[in-house]
Amino acid sequence: MTVDLPQPRAQISRAAFMDAPETLKLMMALCGGVGDKTDEARFVGGCVRDTVLNVKTYDIDIATIHTPDVVMARLKANGIKAIPTGIEHGTVTAVIDDHPFEITTLRRDIETDGRHATVAFTDRWEEDAARRDFTMNALYCTIQGDVYDYFGGLEDARAGRVKFIRDPGERIREDYLRILRFYRFSARFSDPQKMDGEARRQCRAHAEELKSISVERIQSELIKILATPRAAWIWQMMTEDGIAHVILPMGQGTDVLQALVKTEELLDAPADPIRRLAALLGESATQDGKCKTGLKLSNADQNRLCRLVSIDPELNATTPEHQLRAAVYRNDPDYVRSAVLLNAAKTAHDPFHVRKTIEAINKIRLPAFPLTGKDAIEQGLKPGPEIGDVLSRVEDWWIAQDFLPGRMEALKKLKTLIDQN
Ligand code: ATP
Ligand code: MG
Repeated sequence: MTVDLPQPRAQISRAAFMDAPETLKLMMALCGGVGDKTDEARFVGGCVRDTVLNVKTYDIDIATIHTPDVVMARLKANGIKAIPTGIEHGTVTAVIDDHPFEITTLRRDIETDGRHATVAFTDRWEEDAARRDFTMNALYCTIQGDVYDYFGGLEDARAGRVKFIRDPGERIREDYLRILRFYRFSARFSDPQKMDGEARRQCRAHAEELKSISVERIQSELIKILATPRAAWIWQMMTEDGIAHVILPMGQGTDVLQALVKTEELLDAPADPIRRLAALLGESATQDGKCKTGLKLSNADQNRLCRLVSIDPELNATTPEHQLRAAVYRNDPDYVRSAVLLNAAKTAHDPFHVRKTIEAINKIRLPAFPLTGKDAIEQGLKPGPEIGDVLSRVEDWWIAQDFLPGRMEALKKLKTLIDQN
């Protein structure tokens, strides 16, 4: 194999992940040792971009001149767990100490249809760079910190420019998901003044084509977009550009999301994409008493979303503490916190009150209900549904008493109710 070796464009300060023992072990395995072979594998994409911009990076992608078979063999020879996650596309996942690394063989697109690409392996780094989406995502870095930049990505990243490699329209027609990637990376890295006007025009022109992309891929981008600090701003752009209604037809405008993001910021509350999705959907997701979001979320996320689109309006920044305690007991702290935040966003509540209410919820510690079915049996009831009924009446009373009665008082109440029947 011949390997082109342009002069590195820059050296960057090393990120912690580069010197982590598992990264070094992996790069040594892929590069067949040390010395002048350190260029057989390079970090690529997000981890290099994030290192250049000095922001936290999430996953580590590696590009290599080696074919997937060689990658598998080298990993195994070095005692590294290797999973052939997408061999036909050139991707192998290495796992070291529970830490996954995606290793992809250099490749170029041979055929694209807007959804899938047929790829061929190559040994030319520049070809691999050319099929990537944005200039800032096509940066490569060796284990020694030499950065290779074929399309001016370093400058664009530092200037806050999310720029397609080559012609935006052409790149979007190759893969329509890039429309959403454009907004996602713009939300994270773009200077609002520098959002590429031509790229936006092309996104607008191709918006309807997003309907041909699988729900799973759209949803994954949507969740990532909603997790960004500037989710409300970018959603507004996506609305203006006709993207929002294509990917979330039931969306009800940006106002509540805007207010929610602002409140979260003031409160230092973590960005929560499902809660933010609930802010976009509101009651529109409830039809004929059923929750229909049009998404394919995990069961846990879907259930949470459905509860948050129809929150109890009584749970807000002015709700008295004993009611908050009752709500936490009957639901869970997350639901109550989210309900207060969402209702505050819907009704423009004073952030000072919202903060106090959230702090109060965070402090709530509740005792366990002091009775069990055994207590009812000991008081003469026969096993059956009656026990559940009477216990839940005692429980209602106990909650209404603000959880203060202890076991003895609860037993007394139980006896009174049984005697009344
Ligand atoms: P993140 O921090 O969100 O993980 P990332 O840049 O690593 O950002 P990934 O989705 O993990 O994004 O993809 C890794 C790299 O693969 C990208 O940086 C880009 O170079 C390339 N890539 C991913 N998806 C596409 C696509 N649809 N079209 C072109 N290149 C892509
Ligand atoms: Mg990544």
